[in-house]
Amino acid sequence: MKFSKIKYIIIFNFILLTACSQNISDSQPDKPLDSHIEQMKSFLAENGFPENLIKSYDSYFLIDEDILITKSEVKEFLSGKKKQAHGGSGWGLVDIANSSNITVKAHSSVPTSWKNAIEDAIDNWNSIYNTELSFSFETSGATDITVYSDIYLSGGLPYYVIAAGTPPSSGEPGNSIYINLDYTPLGGGSVTSSSKIYNMVHELGHNIGFRHTNWASNPNEPSATTIPRTPTSDSNSIMNSGTADNNWNGFSSYDKIGTKILYPTYAGMVMYTPVVQENGFGAGRFVDLTWANIHRDTALNYKLYRKEGVSGSWEIIATFNSSPLPGEFTDYVTAPFTGSTTYYYKINATFYLARGNESFSRVVSANVSSSF
Ligand SMILES: [Zn+2]
Repeated sequence: MKFSKIKYIIIFNFILLTACSQNISDSQPDKPLDSHIEQMKSFLAENGFPENLIKSYDSYFLIDEDILITKSEVKEFLSGKKKQAHGGSGWGLVDIANSSNITVKAHSSVPTSWKNAIEDAIDNWNSIYNTELSFSFETSGATDITVYSDIYLSGGLPYYVIAAGTPPSSGEPGNSIYINLDYTPLGGGSVTSSSKIYNMVHELGHNIGFRHTNWASNPNEPSATTIPRTPTSDSNSIMNSGTADNNWNGFSSYDKIGTKILYPTYAGMVMYTPVVQENGFGAGRFVDLTWANIHRDTALNYKLYRKEGVSGSWEIIATFNSSPLPGEFTDYVTAPFTGSTTYYYKINATFYLARGNESFSRVVSANVSSSF
């Protein structure tokens, strides 16, 4: 079996440059001229998508069967729209600030059975703990993601594709998911409600930046970046490709770790009030610092800073890189103190560099007195 780690894509910035609107129009986009299509395909190929994986439909390209990029997005790039600066990770992720309430609605073209599946898929994503990520289902208004029937894609999805998501761009989730309501499972019959849930969980995964876990088993699939602390194979991952007929059977444990790494929470990160102690030599004080250590499975390092007085400048006093990351540190501050000196401490936890040194900080203060 060839299964690899949970991945998220690194291709190029071109997707990010499309600061696309939150919702696509219900009208069909203009059909590009054929001569432009070849130009756009070459551009995609130059940017890391092997040409044999790019399929052209009326208004969009479908890459590796369920990654959808509209032709108007590619056209925008070709007309010289500026790239966003984001470290070269083109598929992108949702900014942490945008990840804690991703709103989703179903367009009126989506039948009730699929709407129910979307709501169940959202409940499943929301069941993962210790992540900032959460979704909510809305019945109206503007939403981050809208799920449409593929009749709203010019030409529709090919018969063998059940649904397609769209990649995040500009720190926002991919704004659309299309469902092929004519899809028939390989063994015949109709799509089960459990399979609808599976597919909606999977497509939402694409819209928040997950690539196929088993991308490497397809020699033609563009390369992706492995999420650390996940194994070299995970047949239970819900982000494997070629799984349109799967029924929902829960996330794999590594899907959950991958989610926590891509969307780490800081809500539970706590630094406790320091305890000041006399050092016994009269020249200084020990300050005992402790902090909650809930991110040991996803944090890369902790850095500890100190400043003297509120207007002082932060200076780094310790860096912790090795696993397991500690939960305490004793600082030594030297005399003389004039009256009472307030020292501020800041712990900074850096997480997987998915979006460039993502880090969270917590600050506490300790009053160190000369008359201790
Ligand atoms: Zn997929």
